[in-house]
Amino acid sequence: MHDSVLTNLLMNFLFILVGLLLFALYYDATKKHPSKRIVIIFSTVTILLCVMFSHKLANGVYVDLRRIPFFLASLYFGPVVSFVLMVMIIALRYFIIGSGLIHLVILNYFVTFLILAAFSKGFLRAKKKVKVLFMIIICFSMTMFNLLFGYIHQAEITVDEYLYLVLIPLAATVISVMITEMIRKLMELKKTLSQHEKLQVVSRLAASLSHEIRNPLTSSKGFLQLVQEEKDIKTQKEFIELSLKGIDQATHVIEEYLTFTNSTPEKSERIDVKDSLMELIEIIKPKATHISFRYQLLDGIHVEGQRHNFIKCMGNIMTNAIESMPRGGQISIGMVEKENVIISISDSGIGMTDEQIRRFGEPFFTTKNEGTGLGIMAATIIVHSMKGKIEVESELNKGTTVMIELQRAIKTEAG
Ligand code: ADP
Ligand code: MG
Repeated sequence: MHDSVLTNLLMNFLFILVGLLLFALYYDATKKHPSKRIVIIFSTVTILLCVMFSHKLANGVYVDLRRIPFFLASLYFGPVVSFVLMVMIIALRYFIIGSGLIHLVILNYFVTFLILAAFSKGFLRAKKKVKVLFMIIICFSMTMFNLLFGYIHQAEITVDEYLYLVLIPLAATVISVMITEMIRKLMELKKTLSQHEKLQVVSRLAASLSHEIRNPLTSSKGFLQLVQEEKDIKTQKEFIELSLKGIDQATHVIEEYLTFTNSTPEKSERIDVKDSLMELIEIIKPKATHISFRYQLLDGIHVEGQRHNFIKCMGNIMTNAIESMPRGGQISIGMVEKENVIISISDSGIGMTDEQIRRFGEPFFTTKNEGTGLGIMAATIIVHSMKGKIEVESELNKGTTVMIELQRAIKTEAG
């Protein structure tokens, strides 16, 4: 008979370990902090298995480890989870084992629920040792409660069985709480790791920003110094122009940088796609007289976002297209309307290698002497903020097509 006490308790322990492991795997796969619902589902399944392998001591008196998932979920996820699991435990006990002594089970779990609810806040902040000690005390007292009823109902328990009944739940409790702490540590570590990655990006941005700004400003300063020494008005004028160019360049870098550090969410508006693109083309065309523009734009198509950002994004892509055709060529701007709107910008320029396509949108990736490598990154951030997608197709020495897919804005007016 004691063989089966041991077997049942060890089976229970195995379910708990597998449950914890699956929980860790779930977290690892989704990278999300588990929701209360997920915790309740995992715990309920574990509790169900524990109850199914419950060991009968005497009529109405059963032992198993169902309390361990209950403790862990209650203490780590708060009173709401705890209450739901308490109801689950009582229901499972009632339907699987039966109604014998159910009032005592209700009393036992309700009192434990109150204790756990009272301690759950302090528990999270406590040190590991304190957590383990608390779990030992509460598990031990529940075991004693259990055995007391076995005694009252004259359960025949051998000395070995007593040992198993006391020691296995305690060992299982200690090991489970240690594993839970380990999972929690790993979760925290992962979070700080990704924060660390973000910090690295920020410091790289800052370093590049100061580099990108210092260069044009230093050259501006140089030309201004030359102006002071220069007597000839015409040359002076040339130096001033060159110095202004440097300031322009620095301003350009800062503007580009501001696009993606601007974290205050602005109100989104309905953007008329054709209207915005036409406005942009009118601005760009005079600056690129060696390029012929072809466009086929659809009327009455709207998307949701900030108009100035949308224009900036399209502007960055068109600028790249123009820069890829130093000896002239053609830009074609098209629009296709399916479920979403797809805007395509094609050029007949130098194209990109596979490596360049792979790195398209990577911060600071540039193949130009005076490039910042921020244009496509800013465009990508804007497209993503509009819940859209950006893709590129390119062939070396043939040309490049950038496609932007955006959701259509919900119609608010007729037409
Ligand atoms: P930048 O223009 O300052 O170099 P971008 O982020 O705008 O930075 O572009 C990154 C890189 O992607 C460019 O340096 C270029 O190598 C490549 N690229 C982007 N658009 C095109 C295009 N239309 N044709 C060829 N190469 C392109
Ligand atoms: Mg660019």
